[in-house]
Amino acid sequence: MLRLLPGEYAAGMADYIDLTTDEKLLAWYEENSQPVPDQTYIPGVPPVPGRPCKKCTFRDHDQVYGGSVPGTVAFLSKQKAETIVKKNEKKTHVISEKLLNFLIWQNEFDEEHVPHVTDVHTPGMIACGGIKKGEDHVLFCYLIDGTHRAVAAMREGRPFEAYVLSFKETAECSMTQSELQRTARF
Ligand SMILES: [Zn+2]
Repeated sequence: MLRLLPGEYAAGMADYIDLTTDEKLLAWYEENSQPVPDQTYIPGVPPVPGRPCKKCTFRDHDQVYGGSVPGTVAFLSKQKAETIVKKNEKKTHVISEKLLNFLIWQNEFDEEHVPHVTDVHTPGMIACGGIKKGEDHVLFCYLIDGTHRAVAAMREGRPFEAYVLSFKETAECSMTQSELQRTARF
């Protein structure tokens, strides 16, 4: 039983954050993601002269999404995410402009690759979970696949769709140390 003062029960349950569905997750992140500058015309990382687009070159490899904040490193496999999306027969969701802008702001992307995926309308994948940032515990949502397609869609003003992975599904995409070492050999 929760230890509550008399009369506190109703208030306690009213504060419960229900994140049990894709829609509720999206709504929570939409409301609680920090405001960031408009990303529509922010250019990505410039191409390296004389080198082919590395995103196109490594298209068939499992692309590992890695993020690190002080004290934490989290790596997620796009290949595992794709398998989970199929297995769980997940549905896509149109991502609101505000949340999409935030997701793009969080990620680095190659400017060169954006026009290469303008006509590719494969949905993206958003991973959701909890992470320690220094002393704070925060909920994260990352676009682990589809950043370039998202940028292309945003610049053209068309909707962008993505799968939303639950906390459990996101945990299932994380990579073990030995898996990471194998991936690093590419
Ligand atoms: Zn490319």
